[in-house]
Parts: sequence; C-alpha cells; structure tokens
Amino acid sequence: RYQLFRRFDSGILLDTESWFSVTPEAVAAHVAARCYHSLTSSHAKSRPLTVLDAFCGSGGNTIQFGQVFDHVLAVDIDFVKLQCAQFNSTLYGTSHKTSFIMQDFFQLHKMLDVVERGIDLVFMSPPWGGVDYFHRRETDLSELPLDTFRLFLYCVQELRCRNLVFFLPRNSNLEQVAYMAGVGGRVEIEQNFLGHKFVAISAYFGELVEKDERKFAEKI
Ligand code: ADP
Repeated sequence: RYQLFRRFDSGILLDTESWFSVTPEAVAAHVAARCYHSLTSSHAKSRPLTVLDAFCGSGGNTIQFGQVFDHVLAVDIDFVKLQCAQFNSTLYGTSHKTSFIMQDFFQLHKMLDVVERGIDLVFMSPPWGGVDYFHRRETDLSELPLDTFRLFLYCVQELRCRNLVFFLPRNSNLEQVAYMAGVGGRVEIEQNFLGHKFVAISAYFGELVEKDERKFAEKI
C-alpha cells in the first residue's frame, strides 16, 4: 500500500478496482516530472501549464501532476473514483490546483471551457480490461476496451493537443504504439520499473519526445 501512496496512512481512499489499477507513486512522480521537464526545457515557461489526466481513477497520477503542473483536469466517468481522487488530492495538498470532472472522455470536447483553456498535455492510462493482459504474450492495443488509436485521434482532432502520454500494459504491441506517431513522426517508449518489477510502459508523443539524441543515448 505504501508503494501506491507513501501517505497511505493519512487516510487514502480506494475502491476495490483501484487497488489493481492505481499507478504506484514513484512511477507517477517520475512521469509527471519528466513531462514537466520536457515541456519547459525547450522554451522558457511563459504561462501556466495545464495537464489533462483522462482516466484519473483514484488519483495516483492526478496528485503527482498536481505537484509539478499549474493546473490539472482530472476526468473520470465513475463518481466514486472521482470522489476518491478528490479526497486523496486533498491529503497531498494538490486539490486546489485540480478540477475534478465527471465525464465520458469522448464528450470532453463539448465542454467548451476545457478546450478553450488550452490543454498542454493529455495523460492517458486507459482501461486495460482488468488483469487479463498479464496472461497474454502480447497486448493488441486495438482490443483494449477503448481503442488506443481512437483516443490518439480524439486528442489531436477534438482536444487540439499533440503532447500525449499513454500508460500501457508492459507487453503492449510496440509496433502499434509506433504506428500512432504516423509517417515521419516520433514516439519515445519508456519501460517503467518499480524496483525489479516491470510495471508498465509509457509512450511519449509530440514535444514530450526527448529532443537531444545524445542525452537520450546517455540515459540508455
Ligand atoms: P481496467 O479495465 O483496467 O480495470 P477500468 O475499467 O477500471 O480499467 O477503467 C480505468 C479507469 O477509467 C476507471 O477509473 C474508469 O472509471 C475510467 N473510465 C473508463 N471509461 C471511461 C470513459 N469513457 N471516460 C472517462 N473515464 C473512463
């Protein structure tokens, strides 16, 4: 439980599903810091940065984005999960920076204020279809409950954002991930470990791809 939330004992609220799906705190903190660094390293930060956490669940990622970004839009279709996310964000002192929105992700473009505000980054840890992926050799992304390709297009076309992160099963078909970047496009795929445990992969698109190839090589 402390891997999920270091401050678990402060009174973290989780529903049953969240025990299996929440991003461990160290991984969520890394992804948030990396995203912030990528967006601010190439040009001086001139305005507040907003991140959309599209399937926020009980708030593991939302909280960590709140630690570094100016504003977080935390979206989930499930009222109970959203309530947990709001409560947990309060425990971490980030709720004042966060808007909690109960909405189907694919309806977000209808919320004019969301689109007009301008979204700098969309983070998606979409439903993985439970823990079944664990037993498969490879996860076919088109067979996840929400098609990853459709999510990608929706962000670009309706939310007008190209800085995207997908948090996906560790055995995801990487050719499918690369395919989303399009011809001539780039994606950076990161393996996220918690100690020796291979937790998931994060796929970074747009300005989130490491620009300095040398730095990239050094990191490997
Ligand atoms: P899994 O299949 O991995 O168990 P879930 O079904 O729990 O994943 O979904 C992950 C999160 O995404 C949950 O918090 C769920 O409420 C949320 N979610 C699912 N579909 C949508 C949607 N269309 N819009 C917004 N949030 C959604």
